[in-house]
Amino acid sequence: MEDISKTFGSMVFNDAVMREKLPKDVYKKLKQTIKNGKPLDPSIANIVANAMKEWALEKGATHYTHWFQPMNGITAEKHNSFLSITSDGNVTMEFSGKELICGESDASSFPSGGLRATFEARGYTAWDPTSYAFIKDNTLCIPTAFCSYGGEALDKKTPLLRSMEALNKQVLRVLKLFGVTDVKRVYSTVGAEQEYFLIDKQLHDKRKDLMIAGRTLIGANPPKGQELDDHYYGAIKPRIAAFMKDLNEELWRLGIYSKTEHNEVAPAQHELAPIYTTVNIAADHNQLTMETLKKVAARHGLVCLLHEKPFAGVNGSGKHNNWSMCTDNGMNLFEPGNSPHENAQFLIFLCAVIKAVDDYQDLLRISVASAGNDHRLGSNEAPPAIISIFLGDELTEILYDIEQGIAYNGNGKAKTELKIGVDVLPAFPKDTTDRNRTSPFAFTGNKFEFRMLGSSQSISDPNCVLNTIVAEVLKQFADELENATDFTAAINKIIKRTIKEHKRIIFNGNNYSEEWVNEAKRRGLLELKTTVDALPYLINPKNIKLFTEHKVLSEAELFSRYEVLMENYCKIIHIEGLTLVDMIKKDIIPAINTYLKDLCDLVASKKAVSAKINCDAETDIINKLSNLTNSIYQKVTELEEKLIEAKNCGNVTQCGRYYHDNILSLMQDIRALTDEAEVNTASKYWPIPTYSDLLFKV
Ligand code: ADP
Ligand code: MG
Repeated sequence: MEDISKTFGSMVFNDAVMREKLPKDVYKKLKQTIKNGKPLDPSIANIVANAMKEWALEKGATHYTHWFQPMNGITAEKHNSFLSITSDGNVTMEFSGKELICGESDASSFPSGGLRATFEARGYTAWDPTSYAFIKDNTLCIPTAFCSYGGEALDKKTPLLRSMEALNKQVLRVLKLFGVTDVKRVYSTVGAEQEYFLIDKQLHDKRKDLMIAGRTLIGANPPKGQELDDHYYGAIKPRIAAFMKDLNEELWRLGIYSKTEHNEVAPAQHELAPIYTTVNIAADHNQLTMETLKKVAARHGLVCLLHEKPFAGVNGSGKHNNWSMCTDNGMNLFEPGNSPHENAQFLIFLCAVIKAVDDYQDLLRISVASAGNDHRLGSNEAPPAIISIFLGDELTEILYDIEQGIAYNGNGKAKTELKIGVDVLPAFPKDTTDRNRTSPFAFTGNKFEFRMLGSSQSISDPNCVLNTIVAEVLKQFADELENATDFTAAINKIIKRTIKEHKRIIFNGNNYSEEWVNEAKRRGLLELKTTVDALPYLINPKNIKLFTEHKVLSEAELFSRYEVLMENYCKIIHIEGLTLVDMIKKDIIPAINTYLKDLCDLVASKKAVSAKINCDAETDIINKLSNLTNSIYQKVTELEEKLIEAKNCGNVTQCGRYYHDNILSLMQDIRALTDEAEVNTASKYWPIPTYSDLLFKV
């Protein structure tokens, strides 16, 4: 094992490197920029760029790139060489301040939802100095935001940065009211736990569905699955252990401290948790982590599947987004305090989240909506597509008591009129919270864990939503409190009102149960089952108002995002549909036919020996498989036609609906028939690796 103290962050142009490589005054200015989230002073850009280049060359880098996250959710980079030819024909290594701050990218192929007509292909990338530059594959990567010529956001980073500003502004207003004036900046902090599958590369490459769609489109369940729960926290196999060691070292060099890995519930499934950090950096780190997972897996003859549901009937993969708010002097605003004063402040922030989550259930749901995650949300291992908050019994009881005006003293209640700011919160042990793993949004002692995220998605969207909706509610609270004559009374009023009006969003029971779905309906909570059900809410007037008022997304940007998301949904299902047709026609049906032919030959040979020889079993299988192939063939023909018809299905909204209602359901039917055929076909004829092969042969 490498010495982590020496290698940690060795490929990152971090604070220590900056201090060492930059003149003192430049370092100070840059730090100021980073701390206040302001644009970089152009007068120092050249010096910073030069220091960065020198450092990168020392580390063996030859190229640089502006590294960004377009709206399709993966990262993009355009490499440029440092190499430059001078007028007298000599070669130098150049990297100017201009090249550091701003890049021009011919980005016409990135989705823009109509924001940037392709003839105006230029997009601009701008350095986000709050996220450190790093070296990956001999390339200096500069984390950037990506905008159009007119300044519209074309990526996931820009709105996230804007949402951080919005949240900072409103939290500072509230803190000021509580007399906290030594805080200059507030950040949301995030730790994103990442789930993934590892399977053998040779087996993977034999399946077109895994290669093209990242998930199995057919495949009968293995006789042994996760029923025994023996994989969870089970011993890690040597091949996986070697992978993890390699992965850790790679991530550490990039300054990503991954903490725990254990086997997840499903066979071949694993999890990685980093130590939390400021949200925009956490988002960059999570993108890098996903990239590194894939890269390192390939070195070990493995493939890392990040799809939300690679195997039907086996647990899918998600991402747990642990979110909190932290001040620049290290105060976690969701840490219940010891003093009454701190408690009132804690309750205000807690109430802001409760109200925000209730008011904007739709946006939280949308922020995790994708074709892949639809297979996971609502099935038995993931929270259902209904948003609710878990607070734990103790905190819930405290809130209910506050609503009733009863003071809570931890052991028995004094029926006194409650004054918040006196002794509302007893010191409650953190461990009584969490441990409800079924809630989509759980308070876990000093942070919230949003568990609906899909494993492959960027964490930028959900955190952008979280920051913005909490900023909005804090704005409402601050408006009210700034105008109040009696601060304590106003605080009381807000807390009581919030609990009364929004307690419907609190649920501590089993979110996976049927009763909860009914109960949620009774409470009037939204259940947006699929991406096509959820996405249209993005552009309703309430949400446009929210995003524009906080300057996170303009109306045009929101509409473009809606289009990109819906188009993406359709494209994914279209590709899956084509892949399924291809597999069935070229691999599956021919394989079954070969088996059928051998069976028929066998029957003929038997009959040649004697007409009396029993051929019932063979005949039965021949019959069954012939019927199945016939049905499969009919459905596949229908699917082919529907995929062609899809061209004429109308606008994006209608297209999304079409793909969901027509294509997905047909694919489901074909899958059921094919899986039955698989079970009835002799192993040696089945042309692709089975679930058992994939899940147990690592
Ligand atoms: P688990 O959810 O498995 O019980 P932990 O509670 O230890 O694990 O932490 C889960 C994740 O939450 C880790 O990535 C951790 O860094 C992150 N986390 C802890 N504190 C905070 C915080 N204040 N803000 C954001 N994330 C946090
Ligand atoms: Mg967790």
